[in-house]
Amino acid sequence: MRRFLSILVLTLVCATPPAASARPFNEAEQTSYQIGLSHWGVAAPCNNVQLEVVPATAMGDAGAAGEAWWCAIRLRDTYVDDPRWTYQQKCQTVVHEVGHLLGHGHTDEPGNIMSPSGDATVPGCHAEALRRATPATPQPVAPSSSLTSKRLAKRIGRLENRRAVLRRALRSRHSRSLRRKLRSVNRRLRVARARVVPMD
Ligand SMILES: [Zn+2]
Repeated sequence: MRRFLSILVLTLVCATPPAASARPFNEAEQTSYQIGLSHWGVAAPCNNVQLEVVPATAMGDAGAAGEAWWCAIRLRDTYVDDPRWTYQQKCQTVVHEVGHLLGHGHTDEPGNIMSPSGDATVPGCHAEALRRATPATPQPVAPSSSLTSKRLAKRIGRLENRRAVLRRALRSRHSRSLRRKLRSVNRRLRVARARVVPMD
């Protein structure tokens, strides 16, 4: 009876439409799925594959990280959101589930992606994990366009004029405020000149 009940419960769980909080695979998970397809060398494991992240209550086995049945791959949301699991591990879970959709069962063979021990290394997942971990290389500062150069030249000219005026004023009278202004102009002039890109 207990067995019958558990089968009944399982059937009900499987027949239950995806919970409202299920979401489709995001970009990172979609990429894992694509890696899974190339790992197995297929264009698709079945028709109209459904890829989603669901709450544990919507999983056939609430403790599983992922599952595959009919033409659906489901990842448990708490697993996906758990930072202790790396991108590579999550990616390999998807590759494993694609294997199930293609009819592969579990194996005890160490290092095999269909081993439930999770000790396999899928090169595609590894490479993608590295790519995602590497911060984007900073974009080189674009060389100043002619417009920027013109503006800069004007700015330097204005600052030089201002400096000449302040220097003349300082020659006729000593003033702390004038000195302060001169220092400020000199500073801005240095900054502006540093921005000039020599033409070559
Ligand atoms: Zn499995």
